[in-house]
Amino acid sequence: MLQLTSLSDIRQHTERLRQQGKRIGFVPTMGALHDGHLSLIRAANRQNDVTVCSVFVNPAQFNNADDYRLYPRLLGADAEMLEQAGCDVLFAPSPEEMYRHQAKLSFDFGELERVMEGAHRPGHFNGVALVVSKLFHLVKPHQAFFGQKDLQQFAIIRQLVQDLSFDLELVCFPIIREADGLAMSSRNRRLTPAQRAVAPKLYEALQIAQAKLQAAASVEEAKQAAVAFLASFPEMSLEYLEVVDARSLQPVPDLTAGQEVALCLAAFLGEVRLIDNLLLQPQANS
Ligand code: AMP
Repeated sequence: MLQLTSLSDIRQHTERLRQQGKRIGFVPTMGALHDGHLSLIRAANRQNDVTVCSVFVNPAQFNNADDYRLYPRLLGADAEMLEQAGCDVLFAPSPEEMYRHQAKLSFDFGELERVMEGAHRPGHFNGVALVVSKLFHLVKPHQAFFGQKDLQQFAIIRQLVQDLSFDLELVCFPIIREADGLAMSSRNRRLTPAQRAVAPKLYEALQIAQAKLQAAASVEEAKQAAVAFLASFPEMSLEYLEVVDARSLQPVPDLTAGQEVALCLAAFLGEVRLIDNLLLQPQANS
């Protein structure tokens, strides 16, 4: 596996690959890789000639200095995992290399970012859009792979690709979970054993809300049931739990036939902030 750190090296390398007629699959990550990331690498391998993975803890998308400082950085182990998964190129620039010039451009995704992650993490999606735009220009992928884990991020990037006419296909893959249901996340490494033990309750809460909705409860009742369940775990502090349209991410007051809906939440376990979501199958027309 080729490892590159400079913008000029990755630019030249992917340009050469394109000239050779190779299809490039791209998986952007912040490292501390787990099976969720590797599922994206394997998908990229299957559908492309060359897989490029970036590992970059992007300072521009953190709205909390401690979260940035304490984000796990494990480049050596990441490189080994990527090599074993069949990744061809690892691009791991330093923040100084990535942001040689202070960026002045800012993005506004309108109502897409006024809810959930955008509402609770000011500037987060601006930083995401900035780094993803830079990476798309540098890597020039034919396909870029993202996880449903970050559902709102995917919606933002879909809008970005559409608005800026990036010539690539976006692919979204399902959430990979631990055996007890906890969504895999690099931040799980920061949980204490006690926090780790209750963390799967987040997924249980989503399942409780889902079961309620499937039993024809109202959105409000479903949310209340999940919130009440989580309230019994003092280690956990729920930030939001929303029932939203799966594309527009706007809260839905009640389910409508044919509408794809997502249950989304964010919660703190101590200082560690976790997110999770569940897609509900569209209701059949009645
Ligand atoms: P991150 O390193 O957290 O920025 O994630 C990089 C990519 O991996 C994003 O597209 C995430 O949505 C995706 N991802 C993170 N966790 C999971 C998971 N548990 N299952 C599937 N994809 C994931």
